[in-house]
Amino acid sequence: MSASQPSTEPGSIETGGSDVSSGDTQTTKPKRVLLAKPRGYCAGVDRAVVTVEKALETYGPPVYVRKQIVHNKHVVETLEKRGAIFVEETDEVPEGALVVFSAHGVAPAVHDGAKQRNLRTIDATCPLVTKVHQEAKRFARDDYDILLIGHEGHEEVEGTSGEAPERIQLVDRPEDVDKVQVRDPSKVIWLSQTTLSVDETMERVNQLRERFPELQDPPSDDICYATQNRQVAVKAMAAECDLVLVVGSQNSSNSKRLVEVARNAGARDAHLIDYADEVDESWLDGVGTIGVTSGASVPDVLVMQLLSWLAERGWADVEEVTTANEKVAFALPRELRKDLVR
Ligand code: SF4
Repeated sequence: MSASQPSTEPGSIETGGSDVSSGDTQTTKPKRVLLAKPRGYCAGVDRAVVTVEKALETYGPPVYVRKQIVHNKHVVETLEKRGAIFVEETDEVPEGALVVFSAHGVAPAVHDGAKQRNLRTIDATCPLVTKVHQEAKRFARDDYDILLIGHEGHEEVEGTSGEAPERIQLVDRPEDVDKVQVRDPSKVIWLSQTTLSVDETMERVNQLRERFPELQDPPSDDICYATQNRQVAVKAMAAECDLVLVVGSQNSSNSKRLVEVARNAGARDAHLIDYADEVDESWLDGVGTIGVTSGASVPDVLVMQLLSWLAERGWADVEEVTTANEKVAFALPRELRKDLVR
């Protein structure tokens, strides 16, 4: 895996504006905001949210959605107001009703359960998650032991593991590496969740390779372009920042990783917030440069609200830091498209 390279067209780092020395004293620090680009919605999230919106328009409410369609409080609350009903499992959906599967993907057993209850389904799994499912199926079929690097309990990991539970072992923390048991050390491959920290994942891979020198890499990057690009953008500005604010929800893996990446890349402080009014004003004490970014499930309106909130407190000078220009888009799920063209 070429883990450090985002897969979209690279841009340039354009910070423009004033030259600020991190050695300035607190009293002389100019107040400015560095705004990461890319940030916010990725192609998979956009597709999943539009899928629920179009399903509501086309079939009328209620539209059931298994799990949060994407991990963002604002998005979920907005769709709820329009008639979406979020459930944990398909057995909460009335027989014959319409259910949308979230962007994080589902295990085959969930599809089977929905079929048994005669549910109409629309699968909004991100195509880049589906790609990891296909890899898992293929390597399980070829009788590999698959080491899936990911966070225990995350929906995406549960969905991918469900493709071949007898062949997949989850590796989350460093200590999990010692617990792995494989049948043939020459037939082992690692795969990963799409929204991990690129650097931490490579640490885990190196650890695994010490135990299994013949460990094979996935055929292509599992950590998706959007996760990688947002991490590259935050890294490019972190060292200049006294504070980085990441807009995103606590259950959003890629948003949480942005906070960690910012800290590891030199930001003096970093926090995850859902809304501007969650900023603790004490975080701003002695701060000059504030970095702002957002997770892949965050609509940009929430970032704009944060910028207004900061402008009211003196941080009105905003410079965009561009490290990539994303042009990825995915077609809506087939099950929905056929009804849209009628
Ligand atoms: S973060 Fe990546 S894998 Fe997840 S929905 Fe977005 S594009 Fe797809």
